[in-house]
Amino acid sequence: MLLRTSTLLLRTLREDPADAEVPSHRLLLRAGYVRRAAPGGYTWLPLGKLVLDRITAIVRDEMTAIGDQEVHFPALLPAEPYRTSGRWTEYGDDIFTLADRRGADHLLAPTHEELAALLVKDLFTSYRDFPVTLFQIQTKFRDEARPRAGLLRGREFLMKDAYSFDLDDAGLRAAYDRHRAAYERVFTRLGLDFTTVRAMSGAMGGSASEEFLAATPVGEDTFVGCTACDYAANTEAVVTRAPTAGDPDAHPPAEVHDTPETPTITALVELAEARKLGGRAGWTAADTLKNVVLTVRRPGAEQGEPLVIGLPGDREVDLKRVEAVLAPATVAVFEDWDAHPELVRGYIGPQVLAEHGIRYLVDPRVVPGTGWLTGANEPGRHATDVVCGRDFVPDGTIEAAEVRPGDPCPACADGELTIRRGIEVGHIFQLGRRYTDAFAVDVLGPEGKPVRPTMGCYGIGVSRAVAAVAEQHHDDRGLVWPATVAPCDVHLIAAGKGPQLDAALDLGGRLAAAGLRVLVDDRTHVSAGVKFTDAELIGIPRAVVVGRRLADGYVELRDRATGERTELPAEAVVERLR
Ligand code: ATP
Ligand code: MG
Ligand code: MG
Ligand code: MG
Repeated sequence: MLLRTSTLLLRTLREDPADAEVPSHRLLLRAGYVRRAAPGGYTWLPLGKLVLDRITAIVRDEMTAIGDQEVHFPALLPAEPYRTSGRWTEYGDDIFTLADRRGADHLLAPTHEELAALLVKDLFTSYRDFPVTLFQIQTKFRDEARPRAGLLRGREFLMKDAYSFDLDDAGLRAAYDRHRAAYERVFTRLGLDFTTVRAMSGAMGGSASEEFLAATPVGEDTFVGCTACDYAANTEAVVTRAPTAGDPDAHPPAEVHDTPETPTITALVELAEARKLGGRAGWTAADTLKNVVLTVRRPGAEQGEPLVIGLPGDREVDLKRVEAVLAPATVAVFEDWDAHPELVRGYIGPQVLAEHGIRYLVDPRVVPGTGWLTGANEPGRHATDVVCGRDFVPDGTIEAAEVRPGDPCPACADGELTIRRGIEVGHIFQLGRRYTDAFAVDVLGPEGKPVRPTMGCYGIGVSRAVAAVAEQHHDDRGLVWPATVAPCDVHLIAAGKGPQLDAALDLGGRLAAAGLRVLVDDRTHVSAGVKFTDAELIGIPRAVVVGRRLADGYVELRDRATGERTELPAEAVVERLR
């Protein structure tokens, strides 16, 4: 591949664009990789498209290597499947909805669990068809409250999403582990410094979930790591150590049933007020609480996963919307959601608990909520009992825990937690049967009885990854791409006209013939200085300057990352760089 700057759709900018607040955004605009076309929508210019395609290729390579099969679902979908799963309401304002000419509701899909489950239902009939994992690399749409930071949070963005189907939990765990390992390979190949952290499952539902966070100060996610062991968690999912309990077990489940001092809704509101988090009455005061979670357990359950209700608080909450979602959840969750799966919506607030006379305690385990109820779709679960976590101090004071640096590690005795910020570049979930239940996906089992498959889902923000790599690989002069994702392998700079330009073009042709991706700066109306500045801004790993020393048969090789410069005979370049 040989690109010539003189004809390339590339306009670099000298100045920082006014509205670009983070380095990746600023540099990708300045170096001519993308242009903003709409709020949260970007046009990929040729150099940007090359990087995006290289990242896409790495992702595809690792997914097919673990046996995932590529499909492509439509992005424009009728509302029905999302109504059936409950996500039409659950996603709320975050999905783009529209009506067709007949007035039928549609949406632009934010992810495709519904479609994957329906496809398997459509085509598979026997246990012999499993396991299977489908993936796609597709444009997703989300009406983000605050699209920001360029590619980091778009309203239209490229995602790799995969969906695994297994017949049992062991199969699901194996699929999950396979994806976890593949993700580690993907992010390593992208040159990202990343941490795999425990996460909340959010709007997907399900239980186990981990995020892959690329460390950078501009990241929106806060995560903690332990100074002594390999514990790492999104602060949304950290379980802090009890301040008073003195429990030797680092992760006991929430277990305090029937405490006489069971706090009520009032206690929660008081807590909110005490912490100056809002003084309004009722549960709306509680919505401003941070880092508080209610834990719900089905009656009689001793061990096992509690249902976790996070109180909205970490982000701006549209109360109208929460209330709208709250109402159906009340019915579904507290009456008989097995009979009304379509009513399970997600949000449950203290108001709901109070209205239903349900006792609850504050569990100060640190899970600032999105408000989503996780695991609620497991058949046979009824959230009719609410208990507190062991961090509850039953002496009338409720301590809401927030993670601070320096807090003791919940997983080991020696370490303490340190806080870092990161960008979520990937997220894997063990979904369970939420979607196969919703669509009654059954196949014939070995004994002739129907079996319901269990699902995992696995996402990578492909376009976000372009920006994440840029965040981690730049300096004050511009981008510094890792060789694995750079738009080109070599930037050839003709530092003069006439023989130098001819030689650069000739060398470019030979490098391209040797299989390298080459950009030749063959512009005749700009100075060598401008070309050097542009090359540093664009960030291709190696530059070859064809300048004055060409008369003696020499060119200069420059390494973008180290700044190292070496002279070598023009004749040796192809051999050296190939
Ligand atoms: P975030 O917490 O950043 O909003 P998410 O948890 O909503 O992300 P998922 O539903 O887990 O996102 O989607 C899978 C992946 O898609 C994310 O890990 C992220 O890399 C990417 N992604 C999600 N939202 C966006 C967006 N608005 N712009 C770009 N990439 C995104
Ligand atoms: Mg999101
Ligand atoms: Mg997230
Ligand atoms: Mg996520």
